[in-house]
Amino acid sequence: MEIKITRTAAPRPKPADPTKLGFGTVFTDHMFTMDYDVERGWHDAEIVPLQDLRIHPGAAVFHYGAEVFEGLKAYRTDDGAVQLFRPADNMQRMRDSAERIQLPDFDAGFMLEATLKLVELDQDWVPTTPSASLYIRPFEICTDIDLGLHGIEHARMLIILSPVGSYLSGGLNPVSILIEDQDVRAVRGGTGYAKCGGNYAAANRAAHKAEQKGYSQVLWLDGVHRRYIEEVGGMNVMFKVGGKIVTPQLTGSVLPGITRRSCIQLLRDKGFAVEERLISVEELMELLQSGALEEAWGCGTAAVISPIGSFAYQDKVLTVNDEKIGPCAQELYDTLTGIQWGRRPDPYQWIVKVPKKA
Ligand SMILES: *Cc1c(COP(=O)(O)O)cnc(C)c1O
Repeated sequence: MEIKITRTAAPRPKPADPTKLGFGTVFTDHMFTMDYDVERGWHDAEIVPLQDLRIHPGAAVFHYGAEVFEGLKAYRTDDGAVQLFRPADNMQRMRDSAERIQLPDFDAGFMLEATLKLVELDQDWVPTTPSASLYIRPFEICTDIDLGLHGIEHARMLIILSPVGSYLSGGLNPVSILIEDQDVRAVRGGTGYAKCGGNYAAANRAAHKAEQKGYSQVLWLDGVHRRYIEEVGGMNVMFKVGGKIVTPQLTGSVLPGITRRSCIQLLRDKGFAVEERLISVEELMELLQSGALEEAWGCGTAAVISPIGSFAYQDKVLTVNDEKIGPCAQELYDTLTGIQWGRRPDPYQWIVKVPKKA
């Protein structure tokens, strides 16, 4: 399918101070859109100036959470090139997410091509400041005008781009985590493994509670026993114990992170044993109490690696590694960001280059 390109007649100024970007409040000049209906399939793939959408208020996306999304980044290398990190994995995961909530399937290769075209066109928006990048947000929504929700017959795919600074305001400083023992994010059999807006709606209340109490993130426990550790906020979680790495297994309620997958491969190739298994909150508290927990960190595209300094559970607050970043988290951060920003070799072929502007 051809992608029709309509350039903006009024390019907007780039942010003056990229260190003050925050996360996802500034957007670039263009966006990608494509429509689906049962008769025609996907059609009208276009890159157009960024603009408000015209969608009927009866569209299912507004009422029943019929939405899936992805999040990846474009990085500026020292020689001025722009590149993406494992973008095909994001497109495949969006297909898996769409399947879970029965949004129409799509060609992952075509979505990668659309992403590359859009980033190529708006590449001047990729920040040059250290640790800033261009966040790419593809998403698919159901546009059926049908409050009865009788199967999905109309959908829209979009990609928007946002130059972002560092995700966590503290940078690589260890964060404080509140272990949530009331609300749950997802259950096995539900949508936990899918990247969909509905999971975030379920997470909102606990996230706000944690924020009000002064914690940076929530640690989620499983929905059945409220016992097994799943994730931290919008990141996967890893622990270092007795020289080994332990991370929750993908039970169906945990999001299969691409950063998680990359960390596991890097760690194994550096000679660490990595166990994917159930970890109970009691086990974590014991490891913390005895000082056996060497390191803990969250991992995800937005923050890359986010070292954890303390965990609060019920009436206890326990710290890890004197609330300092540990060597393993630091090494993972350096390796991943080194590959992403083109400062280290890419032995796994994780990088996809964006063509230079024609
Ligand atoms: C996106 C996301 C992650 C991290 O996935 P990456 O592919 O590493 O960015 C982890 N947990 C949740 C809930 C997410 O939405």
